[in-house]
Parts: sequence; C-alpha cells; structure tokens
Amino acid sequence: MKQNDYDTIFASSNQYKSAIKIIRISGEHAYKIPKIFNFKKPSSRLFALKKLTYKNKLIDYAPVIWLPKSKSFTGEETFEIYIHGSLVIEKLIYKILSSYKNFRLAEPGEFTRRATINGNIDLVQAESINDIINSQTERQLEIAHAQLDGSLSKIVNNWRNDIINLSSLIESLIDFSDEDLPKENFSLFRNNLDKIQNKIKRAINTAKLSYFIRDGFTVAIIGKPNVGKSSLINALTNLETSIVSEIPGTTRDIVHQKIDLKGLPVILYDTAGIRKTNNIVEKKGVELALNIIKKSNLILNLSDHGKFDLKYLGSQIFKQSKTKFINVTTKVDINKKIYKNADIEVSSKTNLGIDTLLEKIYKYLSNLEPKESSLITSERQVLHSKKALNALNRIKKLSIIDETELIAEELRLASKHISNITSFIDNEEILDKIFSSFCIGK
Ligand code: GDP
Repeated sequence: MKQNDYDTIFASSNQYKSAIKIIRISGEHAYKIPKIFNFKKPSSRLFALKKLTYKNKLIDYAPVIWLPKSKSFTGEETFEIYIHGSLVIEKLIYKILSSYKNFRLAEPGEFTRRATINGNIDLVQAESINDIINSQTERQLEIAHAQLDGSLSKIVNNWRNDIINLSSLIESLIDFSDEDLPKENFSLFRNNLDKIQNKIKRAINTAKLSYFIRDGFTVAIIGKPNVGKSSLINALTNLETSIVSEIPGTTRDIVHQKIDLKGLPVILYDTAGIRKTNNIVEKKGVELALNIIKKSNLILNLSDHGKFDLKYLGSQIFKQSKTKFINVTTKVDINKKIYKNADIEVSSKTNLGIDTLLEKIYKYLSNLEPKESSLITSERQVLHSKKALNALNRIKKLSIIDETELIAEELRLASKHISNITSFIDNEEILDKIFSSFCIGK
C-alpha cells in the first residue's frame, strides 16, 4: 500500500463547464465535509439539498449524498456533492479541500484502485471499468459489462477449483507405495488435466479475437500508387459509418481511420508507403506498411486494370499469410471493362459498390468475432493464463509415479497464476500500470 493511500482524495466527474458536476470525496477524513461546508450531515445514502458555505461565503446549493464505508464504491467514507457545473465552484471547492491536512486531488484511477484494495471489486472488474468508459462500440461495451458483473471472475474461479481438485488427487497419490498406486486415478488425473488445459487454451484464443473487439479489426488497403486507395478510404468512411478517430499521417506514418461498422470497430489502413525503395525514409514507410499487412485481419487488394498480382510488393509475406484477400477493381465509373478475377467492383467517385463492399467486410469480420462473451481481454489476464497453461503443460512431461511432488508443485504454480488474474496483488508496478490509464475521477 502506498503511503498516500491514507489521504482523503477528491475529484470531479469532468473537467469541463457543464450543467452539473459530481465531486467525490473519499477517505478517512471525508466525515469532515459537513463541518467544512457548514451543513448538517444528511442521512446515509439519501440525497439532501444543502447550502454549502465556507467562512460565511456561499459556495453553492447542491444535493449531497453521504455513503458510509460499508456502502460506498471505494469501501471508504465517501461524500458526493452534485454542484452546478461551474469551473469556478469546482476550483473553489478544490482550494478549500486542499487547505485541509491529508486532503488531496485524486490521481487517475485512484477511486477504483481503492475499491480494489478494499476488496469491493477484483482486478478484472477494475480493468473492465476502464474498458466501459473507453468503449467505442456496443460490442466493446457488452464485453466490458460481462467482466464487470463478475462472469469472468466466476470462470477464473472455476479454473482454480479444477486445479485444486487435481492437486488433491495428486497429493492423495503421494502416500501410496508404487505397487499400491490406484491406477484408475491416473486416467482421471490425465482426463481432468486435459479438460482444464483446453478450457484455458480456448480462453486465450478467444482473447486474441476480443482484442480486436476492443482495439479494432485491422483492414489493410493495398495497391499500386494512384489505384485509388485513399479515395476508397474516404468513400468507406463517409458512407454508413462514423469516424471514431482520425489520425493524420505523414509520409512515414501509415494513414488510418477507425470506423464503427455496425458495432465492430474497424481500422482502415492506407498502405500507400509500399513500394520497392532505396530511400531510407521511404524504407521505414515500407516496413511499417508490411507490418500492418502482416497483422491485418483482412486485405483489400486494389487494382484499376484487373491485375491483382502482388509482385510489386517484393515480399514473401503473402505466401505464408492466411489473411483473407478481397480483390477490388476501382474506378469503374471510367473503367468499363469487366475483370473476371475481381471479387467486387467499386467507384469511389459515384459510390457504386461501396455499400456492398462494406457488407462484405462486415460479414467476414463478424465471423471472426468470438461467440462467447465472457472473455479474458487484457494483456495482463492473458499473461497469467499463459503462465498457468505453461505450468500445466509441463506436467504432461512428468511421470505420475515418480514425480508426484513436482506435479504438485506445478499445480500450485498454475493455481497461483490463475489467482493473479482476479485477486489483488500488492505490487505497486502492476497496480500503477492498470490504473494509470484511467481518467481522473474514477
Ligand atoms: P492512391 O494513391 O492509391 O491513394 O490513389 P488516390 O485515392 O489518391 O487516387 C488517385 C487518383 O485516382 C486521384 O486523382 C483520384 O481522384 C482518382 N480516383 C480514385 N478513385 C476514383 C474513382 O472511383 N473514379 C475516378 N474516376 N477516379 C478515381
């Protein structure tokens, strides 16, 4: 626990001028709030409109709620004040509170961090709060909600129970002499080990896909210069989609745009940089573009003359890659010839075929989407799951007869890694990593 975990912290729900702002104050000294602002402490968990004054000066008329520590999000004494959303009132309150000993502005994620430290939520739920706030599509929100309601925590606890059962099974064998070993327990052990390994493996695999739900599916648009790549991105982003974020590119960056395609976050990459080149700056661009292609979920391969060969890329990556290609003939408004090997024909000028192309992209990507909704999603969760799986995999190489002690040790290790997914770890570095990305006020 950090030294300043004992401070009483405060923050407001937003940093802008707005109709209302909620100022939350949490910590040991929060009970002083009524005294500081000269109002009578309201009954717990009931809104009461109060006149807030400080040294005879009116601060605001505002509903106030008192949440005793057994009933608050943080697990600490908490007050929330619903002030008029003026920056002046906010600043005034901050100034007053900061003048009191042990009161300070909260750091990003600090309320959630305290809720975790005090056991009101587990680490997975803490991470999901950040995901909920940052979600950009309904599907992302759905997954984040599933984690917040504890579905993932339940699954993870089941894994742990399965491993503990394996431990009991193996420990029961330690006391037997070699001749008396109950052989039927061997196959029971092997079967149950297989089952739990498969469960964790599946979760890790679906996690890969849920990254896409959270961070976006990658669609690379490739083709020779002037074939119409950036025009196509414009057409795709202007029609039936909304731009989530726009990141302008320089010659060395890859221009990309994130769109919300019927709930799927999709990042469209314009790989204009790809060309054989000796120029160092351009080489960097080529490298970046090839990397994007490698990690893409889908490639739109553009041509305005019906030839879709990829020789100009001068790369072997497509031979190994299983990535799906859609061959797109562009500029069909001026290009009347029909090319047989195209999957679709479009015109970014007249929007001909653009709807159909979006539909094709959606159809393909939504099939990649994981069907189960309770998933491990964060890198941290995947890392612990992998470590647990590795420990279980190592057991496969051990002999149940001669190496029971080693097996028991690997099971303990696996169980510890599984616990680390959800349980609070007193490790500043990990906690800082989780909570530093939060917005202030959470
Ligand atoms: P990029 O280099 O592959 O990104 O190609 P651009 O999108 O910059 O397009 C190159 C040229 O082709 C520009 O002059 C565009 O206006 C033109 N162009 C792109 N798409 C179409 C199209 O569908 N129809 C017509 N007529 N011209 C197009």
